[in-house]
This record gives sequence, C-alpha cells and structure tokens, in this order.
Amino acid sequence: MRKIVLLIPVFVIFLVACVSHKYADTNRSYKKQVKNYAKLLREYPIKDSAGLQYPGSWVGTTNFSMRRPNYVVIHHTAQNSCDSTLRTFTLPRTAVSAHYVICKDGTVHHMLNDLLRAHHAGLGKWGSVSDMNSSSIGIEIDNNGSEPFTEQQIASLLQVLERLKKAYNIPQANFIGHMDWAPGRKVDPSRYFSWQPLAEKGFGYWYDTTAVEVPADFNALQALRIIGYNITRPEIAIQSYKIHFVPQDTTRIINDADKKILVDLMRKYQ
Ligand SMILES: [Zn+2]
Repeated sequence: MRKIVLLIPVFVIFLVACVSHKYADTNRSYKKQVKNYAKLLREYPIKDSAGLQYPGSWVGTTNFSMRRPNYVVIHHTAQNSCDSTLRTFTLPRTAVSAHYVICKDGTVHHMLNDLLRAHHAGLGKWGSVSDMNSSSIGIEIDNNGSEPFTEQQIASLLQVLERLKKAYNIPQANFIGHMDWAPGRKVDPSRYFSWQPLAEKGFGYWYDTTAVEVPADFNALQALRIIGYNITRPEIAIQSYKIHFVPQDTTRIINDADKKILVDLMRKYQ
C-alpha cells in the first residue's frame, strides 16, 4: 500500500511529461502567437488595430491595465474524452478553443491566458452583450451530453470559478451556460448539470418561490428578457431557461410554477 502511495507522484509526473511532449508543437505555436500579440502591444506610436492612425499626435497615458473578463460561460464538450477535446482545441482548422478544460478525474487543463480571447461562445446574445468571446472565460467540462458530471469535475469547477470571480470581480449574475447565450443552437451544459449548488456558492442565481406572488399583468417573456435571454424566438428561449432552471421539464411551455420562478429570478438578475 505504502509503495503504491509513493508511486502515485511519479506516475503523475510521468503523465504530465507525456501531455507536454504530445503537445510540444502546438505549445510552440501558442507561444509564437502570444509573441506576435506582445509585439503589437509594443508598437509606438500606437498602430490602432481598428485601422486608425494618429502617429503625430500620440501621447501615451500612464494609467491603464489589461482588459478583464466579466462573464464565465460553462460548456460540456459533447466529446467522448478529454484527449479528444485537447486535440480539437489544438488543431487550427477547428478554430475553436476554451480557457479551461476539466476532465472526468478533475484534472484542469488551462489552455489560454484568461486575458486573451478564446473561441468558445460563437453567435448569440445575452442582455446587451453581442460578443461574448471578448468579455468571457470559457470553461469546457468533458462530458458527452447524455451522462452525469463527476464529483471531481464539479469540485475542480468550483475551485476555478472561485478563483476567477475573485481575480476579475465577476458579478454573480454573469455565470451562464452556453445554452443561455445561444438558445436553439446550443444545449450545453445539458440537463445533467446542476446550477443550484453553483448559485449557492455565488456563481449565478437560483430561485426561492416560497413567498412569491405573481402580479396579474406579469409577462413571462419580458421576465426572460430581463434575466438576459434573447427572446427573438420565444420557444427556444423558454427551452434554454428550462435546461438551466427546470431541467426535469422538457416542454417549451411556461406554466404557473415557471411564472413564480421567473418573478423571483427577474428580481435577482435585473
Ligand atoms: Zn458549448
């Protein structure tokens, strides 16, 4: 028994060595791209990336910092292993990525500096945000979409969320799922993902309908809009809301229980 315990760190080191060797080429590519961005930041006078040039009148301010992420978007990978996802995110032709990938055993692969823009959210809308990749951290959880998430994954996720929330001062309302961002186009993380334990720790909100009275003129669709959903196509906005807040209900119909939930959520998210 003692021998096995002693061997575990050796085994872990071996595994880590394998991972870094396997991705030596793509790690080099990462470093090269970061170097190019660093070069862009070092250009004086500033050549604006939007194409504007005021070289003669450039005056550098002394007061600034890096832009920070203000949202976290949670995904499931819809793939069968962490290995497949690491591969997908290191093949240029896929053009997709995330900042973090969380494997079934709880291992966290940090794939991109939080201050850089990952390609994880795609087209969508949440409140008035229309470019989620520019303002968010993407976290992918290894899960094929039709299985429960592991305890180790949730434990690791909570650790990552805790750190991100603190580091970037991310508001409680701004922890959402991919399906919240892109109703109809995305359903991840699936109905197997429990948002309540996250909300209890300050990542997103959950509801309590015990003392809730639904006003006579209550408009459920407007409540969804206030929470953040794009209600252009009401039935798919409702579907995303259900996946997040009422996962056992697979209909796209707002019932009396939903109205109570929405009254409560609307107050918290507005
Ligand atoms: Zn996703």
